[in-house]
Amino acid sequence: MSQSRLNEEQARSLALGLVADLPPARTPARDFLAAQFDRGLAWINHPVGAGGLGADVRLQAAVNHVIAAAGGPDAAAVNPIGHGMCAPTLVVWGTEEQRRRHLRPLFSGEEIWCQLFSEPGAGSDVAGLATRARRDGDEWVADGQKVWTTMAHQSSWGLLIARTDPDVVKHQGLTAFVLDMSAPGVDVRPLHQLTGEAEFNEVFLDRVRIPDLARLGEVGDGWKVVLTTLMNERVSIGGVIPPRGSGPIARLVDRYRELVRADPATARLHTDTVAGLWVRAEVLRLANIRLSQLRTGETPGPEGSISKIMAADLAKDVYSELVTLMGAEGLLYGTYEKVRPVVAMEYSTPQKAFLRSRANSIEGGTSEVMKNVLAERLLGLPGDPRADKDVPWRVIPRS
Ligand SMILES: Cc1cc2nc3c(=O)[nH]c(=O)nc-3n(C[C@H](O)[C@H](O)[C@H](O)COP(=O)(O)OP(=O)(O)OC[C@H]3O[C@@H](n4cnc5c(N)ncnc54)[C@H](O)[C@@H]3O)c2cc1C
Repeated sequence: MSQSRLNEEQARSLALGLVADLPPARTPARDFLAAQFDRGLAWINHPVGAGGLGADVRLQAAVNHVIAAAGGPDAAAVNPIGHGMCAPTLVVWGTEEQRRRHLRPLFSGEEIWCQLFSEPGAGSDVAGLATRARRDGDEWVADGQKVWTTMAHQSSWGLLIARTDPDVVKHQGLTAFVLDMSAPGVDVRPLHQLTGEAEFNEVFLDRVRIPDLARLGEVGDGWKVVLTTLMNERVSIGGVIPPRGSGPIARLVDRYRELVRADPATARLHTDTVAGLWVRAEVLRLANIRLSQLRTGETPGPEGSISKIMAADLAKDVYSELVTLMGAEGLLYGTYEKVRPVVAMEYSTPQKAFLRSRANSIEGGTSEVMKNVLAERLLGLPGDPRADKDVPWRVIPRS
């Protein structure tokens, strides 16, 4: 993609213009985000008309900084799967028509998206998935089951990967589709997590008809589409660059300060741990800045796995220390209601954050799998033995 010559100062000035024209305090979030998209400040590296200005991807941080400082809405929080994973995939693999139809309502939060990859028998090994799509004239007919589908209950659209050819090796027989979540035969059922919330779902597909026009990429290109999504997912989860000392670590430091005032002797026992966690948060933040500066391509590379592992471990350790500092209060969860959240990844109370953060080293690829990616793709170490690599998917034993 050719890049415009926009510089950081100009990007910042465009963002200042946006917040001046649509003051966040007086503008509904959806209207603000739609205007952000129309001005090319949604994904500044996207082409003009697709939410961007064809500029350097690194300028987005300057834009986001201005909008956050003015109290503007965060599209990534409104539609996390759509924003972080589906949109970049649409940009790389979508047709002109698909981008025109989907990107704007996705960014504004008018249409929420979900990611239909994992299945009961295929999580880390997503290439082994069994949901079938069979061609029927100008349509495809999909049957199967997906699982752990975050926000499927809120979603208008899903990024679906299905097996279209069982007779070739597993990575080759997959095709990607944009699935209308309201199509007949799509059945979304809640799965309750440790927090009590049903943020994710099982999704059953029973003879769901998908127009061929909703295919993403060529037939058989599904694995390449998956890789685009997963590379973006790792950066979307682990690559956030908050202001120094903000986010989860700020909550911990605030609590620690309270303890210093209330009970200095106990606080002293935690000084080393809190300081160590602060250093790790800062190292992650600086590493993410460095990675974002090094990034030039449209799709992030395997180095996104570094942030993903570090962020998952850090979040778990920070929230664990936070509830520890709370003493007995940290054990109280309030009412344990089984609810259907309207936003994903809800970390409102320390107790909820502690429980929810356990999932950080699983979602978007487990830490073990991230380590495999680093070992093989960055360090050049020998790969795992893969006995099913060269045989047709149809003959691979499945549980
Ligand atoms: C909160 C949350 C939200 C999610 N949202 C979505 C979503 O929106 N859409 C979606 O499609 N999926 C989603 N997932 C699913 C997620 O991607 C999978 O859970 C994850 O990829 C692991 O797959 P699995 O659960 O099948 O575990 P398995 O793949 O069965 O893994 C089990 C264990 O074996 C280890 N393991 C597996 N293979 C290897 C290997 N080669 N080397 C070393 N260790 C290995 C794993 O690390 C893990 O500890 C979500 C998961 C969570 C927790």
